[in-house]
Amino acid sequence: MARKVLVFGEVKEGSLRNVSFEAIAAGKTIAEGGEVVGVLVGDAVAQLADHFFHYGADRVVVVEHEKLNHYTSDGYSQALLAVVNEEKPEGIVFGHTSLGKDLSPKLASKLDAGLISDAISVEAVGGNIVFTRPIYSGKAFEKKIVTSGIIFATIRPNNITPLVKDEAHTGEVTTIAVDIKDLRTIIKEVVRKTSEGVDLTEAKVVIAGGRGLKSADGFKPLQELADVLGGAVGASRGACDAGYCDYSLQIGQTGKVVTPDLYIAVGISGAIQHLAGMSNSKVIVAINKDPEANIFNIADYGIVGDLFEVLPILIEEMKSL
Ligand code: FAD
Repeated sequence: MARKVLVFGEVKEGSLRNVSFEAIAAGKTIAEGGEVVGVLVGDAVAQLADHFFHYGADRVVVVEHEKLNHYTSDGYSQALLAVVNEEKPEGIVFGHTSLGKDLSPKLASKLDAGLISDAISVEAVGGNIVFTRPIYSGKAFEKKIVTSGIIFATIRPNNITPLVKDEAHTGEVTTIAVDIKDLRTIIKEVVRKTSEGVDLTEAKVVIAGGRGLKSADGFKPLQELADVLGGAVGASRGACDAGYCDYSLQIGQTGKVVTPDLYIAVGISGAIQHLAGMSNSKVIVAINKDPEANIFNIADYGIVGDLFEVLPILIEEMKSL
């Protein structure tokens, strides 16, 4: 059954986030040959339409308004509701990001639709669209189908492969005019926390540190290793609670969820709440002096040793490659 599917384009610092392209690929599966429409919301976002086309969108809908210059769930849900009323889609896909987690339930409730959140795969099987999502902090997986109404889902970043980029692919851009009513929240100023380099949730390489690093200074070599490998630094809650790093780096059940190609856990014991945020990483390397540490149960490669001896050697080796 061919469906029309809307894919929300998440804009960060003037660019579309990678998860938006992954969402296009998910949208193609849901559409089963139907139309995949990228949706851009903001105050000057139309110029990003080409990026959507390069990754396979059939058409792009743009909603621009000065009140949409900063994200608010109130303003963006008004804009998206207008798009849904105009387009009447059978499917909607968001990235399972902070913004997606905030906006998608609000929109789903306004549409009286269900929501499948945090899907890590989407397949078309015998007329059904089957979503797989982790449950019990990643200890098990469930498969879900939508039996009525709009197929509305959020997808976890770094799990669904985007289509191959085709810079020659283009399409029609449709503009929808909206009247954004008074917002209950107005963003006066955005103060950015300067996180160096790569976005943690979209990084292909994550170097995460735990309480074993002993201090904020102990964390510094992690950034050096991340720089060499083109990755981002993350942390366990143990390290954040101890004040070694900022909570924005926390990975786990109550932190960020990451799925990099390579995850290096340094001085992290591997508590279940930490594993919830990283166990789907493709290759996991653990450095820990305790051979019984739980992190070794999910690691693909383990180094049993003192991290303060292992890290400098690893950094030097990586630099020499
Ligand atoms: P520890 O458990 O203290 O482990 C430190 C490790 O470092 C040990 O394995 C030790 O062998 C090793 N080590 C020490 N020195 C060295 C050395 N010199 N060389 C090599 N290895 C060394 N945790 C999260 O991470 N993310 C979450 O989102 C999260 N959410 C939670 C939610 C709830 C409701 C609760 C109750 C807990 C949550 N936690 C979370 C906390 C979690 O249970 C653990 O307490 C935490 O993950 C432990 O952090 P850690 O591994 O850094 O510290």
